[in-house]
Amino acid sequence: MDVAVVGSVALDTVETPWGKAEECLGGAATYFSFAASLYARVGMIGVIGEDFPPEHVALLRRRGVDVEGLEQVPGGRTFRWTGRYHRDVNQRDTLDTQLNVFETFRPQLPETARKAPFLFLANIHPALQLDVLNQSEASFVGLDTMDLWIRTTSDLLRSVLERVHVLIINDAEARLLTGEESLIKAARAVCELGPQTVIIKKGEHGCVLVQEDEIFLLPAYPLENVVDPTGAGDSFAGGFMGFLARKGIVDFPTLCHGAAYGTVTASFTCEAFGPARLVEIGIQDIERRYQQLRAMTQL
Ligand code: AMP
Repeated sequence: MDVAVVGSVALDTVETPWGKAEECLGGAATYFSFAASLYARVGMIGVIGEDFPPEHVALLRRRGVDVEGLEQVPGGRTFRWTGRYHRDVNQRDTLDTQLNVFETFRPQLPETARKAPFLFLANIHPALQLDVLNQSEASFVGLDTMDLWIRTTSDLLRSVLERVHVLIINDAEARLLTGEESLIKAARAVCELGPQTVIIKKGEHGCVLVQEDEIFLLPAYPLENVVDPTGAGDSFAGGFMGFLARKGIVDFPTLCHGAAYGTVTASFTCEAFGPARLVEIGIQDIERRYQQLRAMTQL
């Protein structure tokens, strides 16, 4: 296994101005795993209930995802999330969150996942992220979080930040975490907290990657029709970490290339509800879009 990910596995109900999907396969670890599996061997650590459709697990397996760390709780109900997007798809409201088996989730890394050189801590309670860090031998760790943890568990989150190599968050979270309006100042403030590198995502406006004095700017891949952006952030992280794991290099130029591959991977996720589009593509589709993105951004 090259990359291990710990995070939510969900049944999502999503409404956009263009349609609705009920109880489709979702969760941060799911999107991350599908994305990273395009590049490297990935193992998923998460929890599901007895109601979780077995075809979803079969789909993950078919994509080569190692599901040994996917715990199924007998009699339990799977985590559910319901969200609604506005016409401006950068805006979404969470309508309902049912933690169910996710509430008492205590991640246990199987031996292969402990030894994976790359680890991604998707958005879960920082105490659990710390616990996972203590189980892992990874030499490169990526982190995501959310406004809830920034507001309510700031000290624990800071302990996690001290031990990770890259933080991948959105613009609003970066501002909330650091109190800085300027995203470049916010990125520099994050680096003071521990990570050498920070990637701040700006939805359809792309992302900025900052490491010490270096800044790399990247637009998003221009999609004419966004169907459902759910999971785009996790797919970005999966593409990014998967690419790094495939290369086995984490220098600044490789991180920048990884961000471009993350961007391209996430663009596919937005083209259908759930991970439907992401699971049908191959690395040749990614390469084609990557070359288009390169051509569109070359001066
Ligand atoms: P993204 O669009 O990249 O922010 O990721 C959306 C995914 O995160 C959905 O598939 C949800 O199931 C999952 N999700 C939503 N809220 C939470 C939460 N509080 N903790 C963990 N995962 C969540």
